[in-house]
Amino acid sequence: MSGRIVVLTGGVGGAKLVLGLMQVCPPEDITAIVNTGDDFRHLGLAISPDIDTLLYTLSGRANAAQGWGREGETWSFMDALKSLDGEDWFLLGDGDMALHVLRSHMLASGETLSAATARFATAWDLGLKILPMSDDAVATHVSTDAGDLPFQRYFVEQRCAPAVRAIRFEGAEQAYPAPGVIEAISDPATRAIVIAPSNPWLSVDPILAVPGIREALAARKAPVVAVSPIVGGQAVKGPTAKLMGELGLGVTNQAIAAHYEGVIDALLVDVRDAGEGLDIPHAVTDTLMKTLDDRARVARAALDLAERIAG
Ligand code: GDP
Repeated sequence: MSGRIVVLTGGVGGAKLVLGLMQVCPPEDITAIVNTGDDFRHLGLAISPDIDTLLYTLSGRANAAQGWGREGETWSFMDALKSLDGEDWFLLGDGDMALHVLRSHMLASGETLSAATARFATAWDLGLKILPMSDDAVATHVSTDAGDLPFQRYFVEQRCAPAVRAIRFEGAEQAYPAPGVIEAISDPATRAIVIAPSNPWLSVDPILAVPGIREALAARKAPVVAVSPIVGGQAVKGPTAKLMGELGLGVTNQAIAAHYEGVIDALLVDVRDAGEGLDIPHAVTDTLMKTLDDRARVARAALDLAERIAG
């Protein structure tokens, strides 16, 4: 079956599914809309963690065991920085630095984040379209029992330890969707919109907070399917389950479905949680993506569910 596939994604969990989609449909048919709420300035550099995770994962450059950064990375820059008493809570490998320097240079020359991202995707021959959710700055902040924290301070420096009370996306109200985002969602040729199993509160909500994106999703013709980040009553990695508890929610697919109410038509859930009793359309499969075959299987199951919904 042909047609365009749109996927909303954060970093690690999302990139696994996007890689799966690339195994089951032509990359040229795929448009990934990526969270940029984690983006920040560090040592003067523009860093876009979720876009970078996608670029590294899809090009085979990611350090999968570590869960961030590049495979075979070297650390001369970081060693030199430490010797100068530079801030060292955020690690920047030498190869990773090349991306941040080039992106920062392009932005300083008046180019957009979209243009920088497209340049990297083209340089690495990825085939698919990778669109930031917005070219405008949107910054996720978490208010925690340890005070208000910009996202990377919470996520990297504090390792998600503080209890989260609320989350906000600074700048979202003034932001515009990046070129191509609304068009992709509304394109009559789009046959499925998939929300990756990224953290719904920290990775997908920032995308939905950009004015126009939620509205376009509400008005779209294509079926919208989310892949649940819950596997066996837990999150596979990261703070999703802890965060759900702190927000007073059970770590259940019901809570995920309720969170996406009005946005999704159906939810793909893991076989370990199948007995939960969901009252929205859903399908069940093993959603744990360890191998490339797993990624392809989950991608295919999400597209099959979308096709079922479309009737
Ligand atoms: P980040 O932006 O790098 O933190 O990553 P994401 O937000 O894209 O993904 C984090 C979420 O992905 C977590 O909630 C995990 O539960 C989920 N996740 C990671 N791997 C898998 C997997 O193999 N299967 C499923 N269903 N969810 C996964």
